[in-house]
Amino acid sequence: MVRQPVVNLGACSLCEGCIAVCPSVFRLNDTGFIEVMDLDDYPRDEVDEAIKNCPEDCIEWEEA
Ligand code: SF4
Repeated sequence: MVRQPVVNLGACSLCEGCIAVCPSVFRLNDTGFIEVMDLDDYPRDEVDEAIKNCPEDCIEWEEA
């Protein structure tokens, strides 16, 4: 079971805070939305930090 972060794009304000905290996981894609990289393993502490700091509370872990 792989845990991966997911972003609720409807709530995301594009503050880019998650990118600042965790650039290996979050990026701004060509269509102007936050995208989660497709990784085999996610850095738990960094993602937890991004979740904690997200002003819209729109990042969460999901079991894939
Ligand atoms: S920190 Fe949250 S609101 Fe800001 S860009 Fe990332 S997902 Fe969107």
